[in-house]
Amino acid sequence: MLRQITDQVKRIDVNPFPGADILSVSQFDRPRLEWLFARALEMQDMVKRDGGSDLLRHKLMVALFYEPSTRTSSSFIAAMERLGGSTVPITQGVQYSSVSKGESLPDTVRTLEQYSDVIVLRHPEIGSARIAADYCRKPIINAGDGAGEHPTQALLDLFTIQKELGRIDKLRIAMVGDLKYGRTVHSLTRLLLQYDVELAFVSPELVRLPLDLMNEVRKSGISVEETYHVADVISWADVLYVTRVQKERFSDLSQYEEIKNFYEITPEIMAQAQEQMIVMHPLPRVGEIAYSVDNDPRAAYFRQMENGMYIRMAILAAVLGKL
Ligand code: ASP
Repeated sequence: MLRQITDQVKRIDVNPFPGADILSVSQFDRPRLEWLFARALEMQDMVKRDGGSDLLRHKLMVALFYEPSTRTSSSFIAAMERLGGSTVPITQGVQYSSVSKGESLPDTVRTLEQYSDVIVLRHPEIGSARIAADYCRKPIINAGDGAGEHPTQALLDLFTIQKELGRIDKLRIAMVGDLKYGRTVHSLTRLLLQYDVELAFVSPELVRLPLDLMNEVRKSGISVEETYHVADVISWADVLYVTRVQKERFSDLSQYEEIKNFYEITPEIMAQAQEQMIVMHPLPRVGEIAYSVDNDPRAAYFRQMENGMYIRMAILAAVLGKL
């Protein structure tokens, strides 16, 4: 049954994204992923060698964040500046912008497009990036739309798996934690459906993977398991992708309290894992991975963060037509 995927992969040599919005992982098939990962590796080499370049000189990026962010906002800003571009961050300050006067998202992005070349948007509502893109002539990059998608995170996650383990096909990947509200899980799962992988979803009952996504997974023919226990997957997994419980998405906080400490990856648990396994986390962590795991060479979450900048450099340069 396992799909003859690898044979179908054709190489792309020309930038497929000039002027494009980046709204969903559905825009990325394997040739496009491979093209992007090759460009991200070039960005990495260039940063290590020269620190940066002038590729995006005189280009300006607005980072418009209606929800908190540390890594996504700062890595997009770093990416733009490493490529010689400039940034207008509206991150901590949304409450001081006209948004707080009741300005609509379409009006806000129509304003910002007058001054900039690309807008990176994080917003609490599913579908908000699509709405913004409908009104904006400049590329919109979805940096998280509520519990919907977080495509650039999934791209850097997949890039990390490829770099760390040298392949994606034939891997066993376990997603652990809040699979209902975790948008990074939704995006990464959809990307993985293009590969010959086995998946396991590990979560408390309250935050199982949404049914529509589980149906997509099952339809794809991938082998998939669901369980409540990390113990069921720990020695099986090549990748343990851990997530936090998304407190901000719960209307009933007592439910959050009930499950917030459901999992903690500790050195004792790591002792049961394969020697080549990697632990990933989109971060922030709020107790799901003990700090004592950080020095384990299999803890890939700091390297994962670094990869985020290279992927975002490649995406910015691509949508701005400079690759
Ligand atoms: N930073 C990731 C996100 O924005 C993961 C998280 O917040 O838990 O979705």
